[in-house]
Amino acid sequence: MSQKLKIIRKIMSKEKKGKEKEKEVAKVASKSKTIKEVQKPTSVLTEDAVGFLRNYINTPSAVGFESGGQKLWLDYIKPFVDTHFVDPYGTAVGVINPDAPFKVVIEAHCDEISWFVNYINNEGLIYVKRNGGVDHQIAPAKRVLIHGKKGAVKAVFGWPAIHTRLSNPDNKEPVAKVDNLFLDCGARNKKEVEELGIHIGSVITYEEGFDELANGYYIGRAMDNRIGGFMIAEVARLLKNNKKRLPYGLYIVNAVQEEIGLRGAEMIARRIKPNIAIITDVTHDTQTPMINKIIEGDVACGKGPSPCYGPAVHNKLLKIVEEVAEKNNIPLQMRTVSRSTGTDTDSFAYANDGCPSVLISIPLRYMHTTVEMLHKDDIDSTVQLMYETLLTLSPDTNLSYI
Ligand SMILES: [Zn+2]
Repeated sequence: MSQKLKIIRKIMSKEKKGKEKEKEVAKVASKSKTIKEVQKPTSVLTEDAVGFLRNYINTPSAVGFESGGQKLWLDYIKPFVDTHFVDPYGTAVGVINPDAPFKVVIEAHCDEISWFVNYINNEGLIYVKRNGGVDHQIAPAKRVLIHGKKGAVKAVFGWPAIHTRLSNPDNKEPVAKVDNLFLDCGARNKKEVEELGIHIGSVITYEEGFDELANGYYIGRAMDNRIGGFMIAEVARLLKNNKKRLPYGLYIVNAVQEEIGLRGAEMIARRIKPNIAIITDVTHDTQTPMINKIIEGDVACGKGPSPCYGPAVHNKLLKIVEEVAEKNNIPLQMRTVSRSTGTDTDSFAYANDGCPSVLISIPLRYMHTTVEMLHKDDIDSTVQLMYETLLTLSPDTNLSYI
C-alpha cells in the first residue's frame, strides 16, 4: 500500500463521506503527490546506464574467467574515477583520490556461476562439473555457450523426452543431477567436439540474458552480483556528476571469484588494506512459494535495500548506514545472518587487522537460476544509500566499539 493511499483511507474512515470531505481527500492526495515527486531522487537508470547493464549481464563472465565482464565494467567506470588497476587474478578497481592515506572501499563481485567441461564421451556428448553454485535442477533443456579455444560454441543440455524417460529399468522419472546432465553441441563423436575447440576445462555459461518484466522488474542470469557491479559504478558516476569531493581515497572494487569462497575479495582486501568497506550483494526475496519466512526472514523486492546484522558486520558502521537511510527516507529491510554473511563482507571484515565492514544487499528472486529478478526501485535506493553513506564518512568517523 502506498503512503498516499494510507492517508486517504485514514481520512475516509474518520469522517465518512460528504462533498466537503471528498474535496479534502483530493487536496491531501494532490499535496502528498507533489511532496513525493519533489522528494523522489532522479533515477540512475538512464538509457545509457541500462544499456550498460544489459550489455554487462549479457557478457559471459564465468568464475575464474571474468575478463570479458571486467573489461566492459572498467570501460564504463573509467570516466568517473582518477585511476584504476587490475590485480593478478582480475579483480578490477577504480580509484578516486589515490594518494589519500585513509581508504574506503565499495565492493561487489563480478563472477558468474557456470559449468566446466569434465568428460567427453565417444558419442560426442559432454559431461560437466560445477564452477560455483550453479543449480542442476534448472539445467535440463537450457541453451548454453561452451567457451573453447576457437571461441564460444552453442550447445544444449539434452534431456529425455516426456514420452521416453520412463523406459528405464526403475520406471521412475529421472532427476537432474550433475552426473546425469550432458551437453549436446551437434558433434557426432569426441573428435568432432575437439575440432570445435572444446576441451576439458572449457567453461560453460547459460545463454539467457537481460530482459524487463511489468511493474519495474528486471530479469537476467548472474544479476548476482553484476547488479552490484552496476550499482557501485553508478555511485561513482553520481559522485562525479555532482562534483562531490571526498576526504579520503575511494576504491570501487569489482572482485572476482566470490562464488567459490569469497576469494577475490580476500586477495584485494590485503592489497588495498582499507579502513572501511561497504559491500553490496544480493539477498533472497522471501515472498514467493516454498520459502519459509520463519527461517529466511521477511524481505520483498521493491521495498528497499536489506542490510544485515551479524558478527562480521560492524555495528557502528551499520548504525551510520541506518541513520543515513532514515535521514533520506530510504526504507530498509533488516535481516540477520548466522555466523558469517556468506558474502565478500567476511573477506573484508577479517582481512588484515580487521576492517569495519557493512553489507547492503538488494532483494532478488530465484537466486542462481537464469531468471534472477529484481526491482528498479531497489537499485535506485541501494545506490542512493551507498552514495549518501559515503558523503557521511570521513577519516574522523568514530567507529570505536568501547
Ligand atoms: Zn551467488
